[in-house]
Amino acid sequence: MDGLRIGYGEDAHALAPGRPLVIGAVTVAGSPLGTVAHSDGDVLLHALSDALLAACAMGDIGQYFPPSNPNYRGLDSRVILQTVLQRLADQVGEFSILNLSAVVILDQPRLGPTRRDIQRQVAGELGIDVSRVGVTFKTSEGMTPDFIQARATVLLRTE
Ligand SMILES: [Zn+2]
Repeated sequence: MDGLRIGYGEDAHALAPGRPLVIGAVTVAGSPLGTVAHSDGDVLLHALSDALLAACAMGDIGQYFPPSNPNYRGLDSRVILQTVLQRLADQVGEFSILNLSAVVILDQPRLGPTRRDIQRQVAGELGIDVSRVGVTFKTSEGMTPDFIQARATVLLRTE
């Protein structure tokens, strides 16, 4: 397998009071709502992990981390991402991530102030420069105030 490969992933979680809101491995301070999930509910890392798997036609994170497994309760999604990166390396050999483009859809709080932190964290997890991590924030215009959603596209180069 060689050449360029594009991958796309999506994720969504319900929001509820009294839970942490984790996006791109950054806990957003002062959010009244957080994600309802078996893991830490990091929509950005989940969409990104699925995009990476999709780029190599390797299924989705539900296969590797079934929500029915109690061991994954509260799981740090960085573990999911690192596991996916390792599986990809096992399957396709050496690869590099050329860039990532992600969208997070959330009504409150506004995420602009956290963009740089999220870019840095995600770039660090992927081992790429922050200039290769595009993060766009949108609101649902009040259509889905109780949900957070993410979409991610990645471009890989395999050797
Ligand atoms: Zn998820």
